[in-house]
Amino acid sequence: MIDVVTSSPSPESAPATLTIDLAALAANWRLLRDRSGAPDCAAVVKADAYGIGIEPAVGALHQAGCRTFFVAHHGEAVRVRATAPDATVYVLNGLLPGASAAFVRDGIRPVIGSFDELADWAEASRDAGRRLPAAIHVDTGMNRLGFQPDEVERLAADPRLGAIEPALLMSHLTSADEPEKPASRLQVEAFDRARAALPGVPASLANSSGHFLDPTPAYDVARAGYALYGGNPVPGHPNPMRPVVRLEARIVQTRTIPAGTPVGYGGAWTAKAPRRLATISVGYADGYLRQASATDAHDGGAALVAGRLCPFAGRVSMDLIVLDVTDVPEAEARRGSVATLIGDALDIDEVGRRAGTIGYEMLTGLGRRYGRRYLDAA
Ligand SMILES: *Cc1c(COP(=O)(O)O)cnc(C)c1O
Repeated sequence: MIDVVTSSPSPESAPATLTIDLAALAANWRLLRDRSGAPDCAAVVKADAYGIGIEPAVGALHQAGCRTFFVAHHGEAVRVRATAPDATVYVLNGLLPGASAAFVRDGIRPVIGSFDELADWAEASRDAGRRLPAAIHVDTGMNRLGFQPDEVERLAADPRLGAIEPALLMSHLTSADEPEKPASRLQVEAFDRARAALPGVPASLANSSGHFLDPTPAYDVARAGYALYGGNPVPGHPNPMRPVVRLEARIVQTRTIPAGTPVGYGGAWTAKAPRRLATISVGYADGYLRQASATDAHDGGAALVAGRLCPFAGRVSMDLIVLDVTDVPEAEARRGSVATLIGDALDIDEVGRRAGTIGYEMLTGLGRRYGRRYLDAA
């Protein structure tokens, strides 16, 4: 069951270890597939599969039955293709000038959201002597990428659309995690108008949180990212997903300090009473954001030591964090003891919240210096 796939740096010698549960990843994909009811449940694996590693993530998802993947960049698509040669791979961030040849060569589908991109892909199709597949992105409210609503009629009449194969019609929800807002309903309506203008093209709208809207805008291809990796798609409600990522560091040193002692850079945190401290080898260079620093003015991040919540003391440094382990019995918080930074009560959403951000940012920032252990999906 436990399989060490990546060994650089080796989990045995690394001062902090990331454990990635590929069985949980596969279970999360199955849950989302069953929940969406869409014929095809795709996986969004951009940003190195939200930090957990494209190759192991795609390997486990492919083994579970996933055959459609979305990434942000062409280079990420190439890595998906290498791991899952029979997969359909879409690049969400579109087609920059001069990029089509590489897409054609590697059999990767761009997501097209402008007439200029359409022109490039139509030309690539002419050169290839066949209609090359691509997704069409219509903007329904994000105002970021995609054809604007008032461009869709013109798009439908554009002969260049006939020169390519529109394999998917997609849009992206801005506020699926806030179902009380009218935004998702309005986006679904705008998306249905675009579908009516471009009939017969399979459609895709639901991101992670979109799977939990009622009704679920499942269409033909569901498109989840964050929830696959254990993030909570229904903020404020119990998380239906299994945790995938666990981050543990071992205590390097401990010390006891009297009241009034400052800790860390700038002396930004001062002990209000005698405290026992423990230092671990994780810092902002590992993606543990400095915004999680604890100062006299506000609380920051925390770790679990022997099941007890231990708040950070002072600023997060480049390579080190100091924990207040006063409430942990001395024998359980000493040199070599394990501190859990992500896992159990400190799920990825809570870790993001304590750093003043969202779990997505903590996940995608997971550092390169951690030892990585992959628990096999098999
Ligand atoms: C990132 C992204 C997704 C996945 O969103 P999650 O909230 O992580 O599920 C889906 N579609 C598009 C266009 C995206 O950019």
